Amino acid sequence: MPELHEKLRDIYDEVLDRNPGESEFHQAVHEVLDSLEPVVTKHPEYTDSAVIRRLCEPERQIIFRVPWVDDDGDVQINRGFRVEFNSALGPYKGGLRFHPSVNIGIVKFLGFEQIFKNALTGLPIGGGKGGSDFDPKGRSEGEVMRFCQSFMTELYRHIGEYTDVPAGDIGVGGREIGYLFGQYKRITNRYESGVLTGKGMSWGGSQVRTEATGYGTVYFVEEILRSRDESFDGKNVVVSGSGNVAIYAIEKVHELGGTVVACSDSSGFVTDEKGIDLDLLKQIKEVDRGRIHEYADKRDSAEFSDKGSVWEVACDIAIPAATQNEIDEDLATKLIKNGCTVVAEGANMPATPEAVKQFAEAEVAYAPGKAANAGGVATSALEMQQNASRDTWDLESTEERLATIMRGIHDRCLQTADEYGQPGNYAAGANIAGFIQVSDAMLALGVI
Ligand code: NAP
Repeated sequence: MPELHEKLRDIYDEVLDRNPGESEFHQAVHEVLDSLEPVVTKHPEYTDSAVIRRLCEPERQIIFRVPWVDDDGDVQINRGFRVEFNSALGPYKGGLRFHPSVNIGIVKFLGFEQIFKNALTGLPIGGGKGGSDFDPKGRSEGEVMRFCQSFMTELYRHIGEYTDVPAGDIGVGGREIGYLFGQYKRITNRYESGVLTGKGMSWGGSQVRTEATGYGTVYFVEEILRSRDESFDGKNVVVSGSGNVAIYAIEKVHELGGTVVACSDSSGFVTDEKGIDLDLLKQIKEVDRGRIHEYADKRDSAEFSDKGSVWEVACDIAIPAATQNEIDEDLATKLIKNGCTVVAEGANMPATPEAVKQFAEAEVAYAPGKAANAGGVATSALEMQQNASRDTWDLESTEERLATIMRGIHDRCLQTADEYGQPGNYAAGANIAGFIQVSDAMLALGVI
């Protein structure tokens, strides 16, 4: 990883000392600090007031036991997490991830990223994240429901529409949000819609929330292309994953005239020279909860592979939408060699620092997750606004607001990058703009 400015290096060393073994969290902190040198040079007050050190320490970290009974009558124990990272701009806001890889370091990396992402939306939301090492894959409906109920039986005392508002992430979609909201309502005897986002349309949800992260990422790419007098027309796109973010990114790419030629899940990837058939993909993934090879089994133009990586498939535009660190230096080099000129992160931190360096050197437009995938949390904030006013907005106006927010984030990243002497560097622009917004609020609120 690149060498940091002296004052920032001390802060990073303290983060390493205080949070041993949390490599993803270290990576996320380093990536932000690496952008801040021109800011601390121009504004020493941010280091003098220890605002950066305070930003690196979560306001509150909750770890709890989640006991539940499986279909065989055996007791299972999982671990639950909620990291309430920063509430300078509003209630903590960020998703819940259910995946066996979840640990405190993963939750802290995601929570840290969320602070800056939420600031970039311009909406009044702080940063947090949570989840569990529970694996919903292969579990029955009853098991998923009992797990969610047990998880909420502890979580409910920490959240609330003015305190902390969780949503979905990997392994947590509409089904899980439903069970979580049901249990919250039962325990508290309050129909407090604004306590969770990603709800179903008939019980307090917002139009476009399901689609928002994927659509928003593609709107961001559209702006990058527009700034180069290009469009999606005739472009081949590779999207990793086949979950919530991936599916709706594919949908919007196709609507805007591009062709998604490959997607994946954790068992392998499929290529389809005719373009991914979205109805078939949705049936397999959203309805049957199946595996990606089933797509190739059912479509003549498609091939499945469980060898190599989806990032070896040639494309003009790459949209990683699966998980962290899925593109390393080697895969980045392959993407560039195959002609990829835009990388927009639907997932959080899917490119390693070495991969990002490759993109910069090859002048690939690289849009970091905290900017490119902010459409999901932005629409969650719109869902909170609708809940607070007991209102429901229509599809067109909600989607237009999402598009406007994404265009605004794009422009803000570019303007800030320009202002701090790094034209075209979306990552620097996103980190600096998000940082200044949160830090100014923290300075105003005093040492708390
Ligand atoms: P999801 O619906 O659970 O889908 C995740 C997809 O990624 C699945 O296809 C999954 O494959 C694949 N995947 C997960 N872990 C993997 C691994 N270790 N290796 C290979 N593939 C893996 O989750 P999602 O909501 O789309 O989230 C995807 C990414 O977007 C995450 O980084 C998340 O933090 C980020 N994000 C999500 C939102 C949102 O609103 N949902 C907002 C902002 C950012 P399997 O099914 O085989 O595991």
